[in-house]
Amino acid sequence: MIFYGMRTFVKQLGYMYQTALCGSCQAQVRQAVIREWSWFTLFFIPLIPLWKSYFVVCPNCGKKTKIKKRDAKSMIMQ
Ligand SMILES: [Zn+2]
Repeated sequence: MIFYGMRTFVKQLGYMYQTALCGSCQAQVRQAVIREWSWFTLFFIPLIPLWKSYFVVCPNCGKKTKIKKRDAKSMIMQ
C-alpha cells in the first residue's frame, strides 16, 4: 500500500510596513505576510515541491487574502 498526499508548510515572512483596514472585521491592523508552500508527500515524506502561495493575514479575525509574490516582498517591513 502506498501512502501519498500533500503537505503545506506555512512560514511567516513578516508584517506589512503600514497598517491596513481589514475588509472582514474593519479593524485597522498591521497584517502578517505568510507563505504557504505545498509539497507532494510519499509515505509522509515531502518529496516534490508543488507551489507557493502568498497571503496577508489579519491578526484580529484571521482572514487570509491571497497576494502576488512580488507584492509580498514589497509589503514587508525592511
Ligand atoms: Zn480582520
